[in-house]
Amino acid sequence: MENCIFCKIIKGEIPSKKIYEDNLFIIFHDINPISKIHYLAVPKTHYATLGEMTTEDEKNLGKIFAKISSMQKELKLENGYRLVINQGNDAGQTIFHLHIHILAGQEMEFCV
Ligand code: AMP
Ligand code: ZN
Repeated sequence: MENCIFCKIIKGEIPSKKIYEDNLFIIFHDINPISKIHYLAVPKTHYATLGEMTTEDEKNLGKIFAKISSMQKELKLENGYRLVINQGNDAGQTIFHLHIHILAGQEMEFCV
């Protein structure tokens, strides 16, 4: 998608502190971390919210969650972590390319 910052990061047009990449998604450091560990996991396919997913996107998102779980050690998440997906304006979503916040450690600003 034109003008989508995460599509540009995926294409390498905007720099990011990338941690992991495969054919389905990338993980990089959030530019404005709200906790000790704050990564973003971003599917390579552009869709804004869960409601816009194709059947293929649904399958791939399941694989992405499984992969994050399998990489707990490499991602320094052995002691636990939170996954957050903001959906729409009222949730505070600012970038309309679906992404999973991966959060761990102290200083988290929001809790549920
Ligand atoms: P959300 O509010 O769920 O849409 O989250 C968007 C997140 O993207 C925020 O936590 C931002 O700090 C983060 N962000 C925005 N631009 C960049 C960027 N260029 N590189 C890394 N993270 C970014
Ligand atoms: Zn995008």
